[in-house]
Amino acid sequence: MSKTYVVIVESKDGKLRQVSLEALHAANLLREDGDNLTAVLLGHQMDDTAAELARHVNGQVLVVDHPELQAYQPELAFEAAMQALAALPDEPRLILLGHTAIGRDLAPQLAARLACGQISDVTAITKDGDGISFTRPLYAGKAFEQTRLSDGTGIVTLRPNNLPPADPASAAGTIVPLEFTPPTPLSIILKDVVRKVSGKVDLTEAKIVVSGGRGVKSADGFKVLEELADSLGGAVGASRGACDAGYCDYALQIGQTGKVVTPEIYIACGISGAIQHLAGMSQSRIIIAINKDPEAPIFKVADYGIVGDLFEVVPLLTEQFKQVFA
Ligand code: FAD
Repeated sequence: MSKTYVVIVESKDGKLRQVSLEALHAANLLREDGDNLTAVLLGHQMDDTAAELARHVNGQVLVVDHPELQAYQPELAFEAAMQALAALPDEPRLILLGHTAIGRDLAPQLAARLACGQISDVTAITKDGDGISFTRPLYAGKAFEQTRLSDGTGIVTLRPNNLPPADPASAAGTIVPLEFTPPTPLSIILKDVVRKVSGKVDLTEAKIVVSGGRGVKSADGFKVLEELADSLGGAVGASRGACDAGYCDYALQIGQTGKVVTPEIYIACGISGAIQHLAGMSQSRIIIAINKDPEAPIFKVADYGIVGDLFEVVPLLTEQFKQVFA
């Protein structure tokens, strides 16, 4: 019997989020001939975004376009997602979302309403006979577990940057608009969205992250990190030490109580490497540490270490990268 896979797709400023394309790739890996794929897109004035999404979906693109869905509001997004799922002919085998702020909010609400299981923060998916095995980190990344959904159906959130994105050339999805009736009365009224950080590259999806710690010493000190990140097309992150000291916004914090990142390259500058920081970055493919203390614990997890003053080392690296990528 054919199965249905659903991906709830996120977009930001009209652009599809990379992690949603990675979730589509995961669905493509799992589906077999005859299985259905539906991408659900929630938002407002989504024509271009839906057209772009259709290029990645070998199946249907359900678009719930409504002014109330312009910005994420948990109650409305949940209701819109439920209405989209209700419009499907079959109960989905798997609903995939990104392990983002939105995915982490929406997935448990859906799991509770649908009375199904949920597996969070998945970094790898393997077909296991007729079943599916999901790998997820435990104990702040110190161990991994392989787990399954007890009856094989449920909801999964995927950590960004662990799977390749769906190939845009491989599909021509059918766009299906869906009427949305917002619930009334709403218990949350969204007044305004205030964006504190307007990073050029999204931190959780960046391929290269340049992170600063207390060793950066001031908000001004972060400028050298921004220049390095710009030269590499990366994003700037921070330790809690740097955030607590007021050198940067908490939106940049990486770690146990901050964001989790899995970039190709993580450059830690003036960060000691506390366990709570490692929880947010230790799965990075290549870790480069710059620290003037040769005994700093960050060097234990680093693939490459530079013992030195970051204010001397970082500008030299920026200079070199600018020449290479000019
Ligand atoms: P420090 O530990 O002070 O390290 C600064 C480093 O900079 C030192 O190694 C020093 O040698 C180096 N340095 C100084 N000057 C220079 C220079 N000029 N050039 C090169 N190197 C230099 N932390 C997080 O990061 N993320 C979290 O999510 C998080 N959550 C936490 C949750 C809990 C419940 C608790 C208790 C703590 C949490 N922490 C978190 C805090 C964590 O324990 C550390 O205190 C914090 O990570 C330290 O930040 P740091 O490495 O920037 O500062």
